[in-house]
Amino acid sequence: MEQRKKVLSAIQPTGDMHFGNYFGAVKNWVALQERYDCIYGVVDYHAMTMPYQPKKLRENTWELIFNLLATGVRPDFLFIQSLVPEHAELCWILNCFTSYGQLMRMTQFKDKSRQAGELGGDGFISAGLLDYPVLQAADILIYRADYVPVGKDQEQHLELARDTAQRFNSQVRKEYFVLPEALFTEVPKVASTADPTRKMSKSAGEKHYINLFAEEGRIRKQIRSAVTDTGAESDNGEMSPGVANLFRLLKASERLEAHDSLLADYEAGSLKYVDLKEAVADALVAISGEMRERKAELLADKKRVKDQIKASSAAIRKRAQQTMREVKELSGLLNVRF
Ligand code: ADP
Repeated sequence: MEQRKKVLSAIQPTGDMHFGNYFGAVKNWVALQERYDCIYGVVDYHAMTMPYQPKKLRENTWELIFNLLATGVRPDFLFIQSLVPEHAELCWILNCFTSYGQLMRMTQFKDKSRQAGELGGDGFISAGLLDYPVLQAADILIYRADYVPVGKDQEQHLELARDTAQRFNSQVRKEYFVLPEALFTEVPKVASTADPTRKMSKSAGEKHYINLFAEEGRIRKQIRSAVTDTGAESDNGEMSPGVANLFRLLKASERLEAHDSLLADYEAGSLKYVDLKEAVADALVAISGEMRERKAELLADKKRVKDQIKASSAAIRKRAQQTMREVKELSGLLNVRF
């Protein structure tokens, strides 16, 4: 049987999971499991690059594991990064094959270092923040992943991973690392319902995201108060960003019939926003209901689930350890099994 191509993707444990994360990333993870050998990481080392609280980090890591499992991510495909410390080891080696200048040019570093100054108040910017893309390169290369599902914002980091892999390969005179490719699957970009000109995101504050596991009342309230027309739009016949976002949410929820009939109303000029909002709220409430039910089942068996993820992390670690043995051999480092 032909070996399945490998897909690597990861998500940081930084708090609630929202519908932007779900429609824009995690739902696709679940779909990719059908066709690929997938390795999905909860990357807690990455979450240390910005100011954080140790106790909260560990809680968030498990919370994200339960959330991902509730969405349908397979437990045997899922691991916790710090349980595979070889990621950090490979990161060090790759540091020595990565251009400092290229790291300095990363757009995300520039954005986040500006934010770090604002958030921490004391302007502290960790070297980890600069080095973040190298750890990300290690996450990908350690499994010799063929594909990485990324958005446009991550393209620059993937390019860096390829450059680093290539530099390593040419130094050791062997095409050792697979050069990972971006997997551009069509995923919706979800905007904040409170301000549809910006993306739905945790970092902008509570009203700018809808928690995937929120109670019905909260979801309905957030959708009811969603911005539709700001009144400032020129009458150029274009759909306003808020209305477009509501249609996008309806489509992403696979309520295609409701979507098409409401869109026909919109085109005929007879759409009532209250109807559109109700359809969106119904769709999100149904999804969130299912998610909460599945999460409750998993939480009822907390220890078993945690043990399962520790075991899958250990199994995935074996693959990482194999790569590290080969990398150390090629790099001129010692390889002794104690
Ligand atoms: P946040 O911006 O809330 O901190 P993250 O940066 O942790 O979210 O994103 C985790 C994943 O979810 C990434 O793959 C990202 O591309 C995706 N994602 C985040 N926000 C959105 C959004 N508004 N629309 C679509 N995808 C999103």
